[in-house]
Formats: sequence, C-alpha cells, structure tokens
Amino acid sequence: MSGNPKHIDGKAISEALIQDIARQTQEWVDRGGKRPHLGAVLVGNDGASETYVANKHRMCETVGFTSSLVRCTSTITEEQLLGKIKKLNQDPEVDGFIVQLPLPRHISELHVVESILPSKDVDGFHPSNIGRMALNLPAFLPATPFGIVKMLEHSGIATEGKHVVVVGRSHIVGSPVSILLARNSNPGNCTVTLCHSKTKNLETLCSTADILVAALGKPLLIGAQHVREGAVVIDVGIHRIPDATTPKGYRLCGDVDYEAVLPICSRITPVPGGVGPMTIVSLLANTLDAARGTFYPKR
Ligand code: NAD
Repeated sequence: MSGNPKHIDGKAISEALIQDIARQTQEWVDRGGKRPHLGAVLVGNDGASETYVANKHRMCETVGFTSSLVRCTSTITEEQLLGKIKKLNQDPEVDGFIVQLPLPRHISELHVVESILPSKDVDGFHPSNIGRMALNLPAFLPATPFGIVKMLEHSGIATEGKHVVVVGRSHIVGSPVSILLARNSNPGNCTVTLCHSKTKNLETLCSTADILVAALGKPLLIGAQHVREGAVVIDVGIHRIPDATTPKGYRLCGDVDYEAVLPICSRITPVPGGVGPMTIVSLLANTLDAARGTFYPKR
C-alpha cells in the first residue's frame, strides 16, 4: 500500500493482476496450451524505448511468457520494416507483437500500425481493434486506457452515470479512454466530455467532473481550480521536472498539480505508482488472450 488512503495504488493493483496473469498462464500451459509469446520490434536505440522494451521483456519472464526482440537500425526503410512485420504476422510461434513507438520520422506510424495483423495487435492500435472497441465488440484494447479502466474497477470506483471529463484526445490515451468509459458496459456507462487544446472554458468543464482524466502531456497544468470537491482524479501524464533538492536533480510529476489537488479530490493516482504500472498489465493480458485465441480464432 502506498500510505495515503486517497491514493489509487496502481503499483499494488498491477502486482496483483500480474500474479493473476502468471497463474492463468500456468493453467493454460498445464492444459496443453502454447506458452504465450510476445514479440517486440525496436527501431533505433532511443534510451526511453530501450528501457520500455527491456521492462516488457522482464515482465514476460515474470508471468511465464516467451519474448523476443527484432532490432532494426534507425536508417531502416519503411519497406524493410514492413517486411519484418510481415514475417512476424506469418510466424506461428509469435502470438502477438508490438512495434515500439516513436518511430524515425521517415517511417509512417499509420502504415506500420495498419500492417500488423489485428489478431496479433496486442497494443490495440490497429484501426480494426479501435473500431471493434468503439462498437463494444471483443478486441485488444489499447494498453493505457485499458489499464485506467481496470484500475477504476479494482479500486471499487463506480462509473455508471458518472460525468467523466477527459483532457487530451490522443489516439493512444484520451480518445480511447473516452470511448471505453462511454460504452454500455461495466466499468463504463459514463457521460463523457472530451476536451483538447481547442476547448474553451477548460476549467469550468473540468470542475463539473465526477472523474477527471488528465492526459494532456503538460506538467502540473491541472490545478485546484479544475477539480470539484470529492472528484476522482486520474493523472496519466509523466514528466521529469528539475528539482535541485533531489540527488538526481529532477523529480517525476504528472499533468496534475498533486499537492494542490490532493486536499480537494476523493481519490487520486500518484505519479509515479499510479497509471504507469497498469499499462504493462494490459499488454500482458492482451498477449495471453492472443495465445488463447480469445478474440480472434487461432489459425
Ligand atoms: P499527446 O501529446 O499525444 O496528446 C495530448 C493531448 O492533449 C492532445 O490531444 C492535445 O489536444 C491535448 N492538450 C494539450 N494541451 C492541452 C491544453 N492546454 N488543454 C487541453 N488539452 C490539451 O499525449 P499522449 O500521448 O496522450 O500522452 C499524454 C501524457 O500521458 C504524456 O505526459 C505522456 O507521457 C503520458 N503517458 C503516460 C502513459 C503511462 O503509461 N503512464 C502512457 C501514455 C502516455
């Protein structure tokens, strides 16, 4: 537990869910199922991407998955990269794979995402999976939004009939989270307002939220003036800001001014230890479902 009773403890929730995925994997393998295999494609050697991929590899080991990595230089052409994706699509050993973003500027992320077989798209970014999600059909759900929904569920935060304000409309966080919470499902059944950089009266809209999701990528921008007394605050942002009082010279913060908002809200996700740890859980859950053929029959 992370101490403060207002905290939604993503670290603790994710650890429990990871144990559950490990248990389900063992059961699946014991019944003769194929051990799930998550592939990753890494283009170039961006430090943050290297860390994310290494972390995913480590978590695969923890839950008993096989994992593999295809490394490409940053000078790879789009055509060559699409060739590597085609091989992974055709490889029966690989149940699902991710292409770590961002990609070099000469490669179209859309072309790459569209080239991944929807049945192996465990990041849930393919238009087919996004469309199925919007239609409330079984699909791989994008990792961070799926993690947020699971977090609400496991914290006992009821969503039905609640007014959710999402700030940020990116394809990987804001838009899908707004779709998931508006769906006729549980968690879901919210009334959702989706705000973005062109929204007028952001403060007024945010301060009507029962649940406020901040995914705008601007450090500490959401303050006390945006938060209604008793609201639940989900802070998706993660930033390093200079802090001379820490040994490293920086500290991590979110899109929300935590100190200002804590006294007003009823629950809040801390940064770090809130939304971040949930993202990997979704990827693992999707990979297990890919191996079991839950959403798409295995060929
Ligand atoms: P993005 O930059 O792609 O999108 C930001 C969105 O916020 C845009 O739609 C933009 O219109 C909106 N926006 C920007 N400034 C605004 C303002 N002043 N008022 C209202 N709307 C505004 O960002 P993203 O990829 O969705 O990521 C958002 C944040 O979440 C980033 O800090 C990112 O690092 C973090 N993130 C965390 C995780 C995690 O696992 N914890 C995963 C993905 C992203």
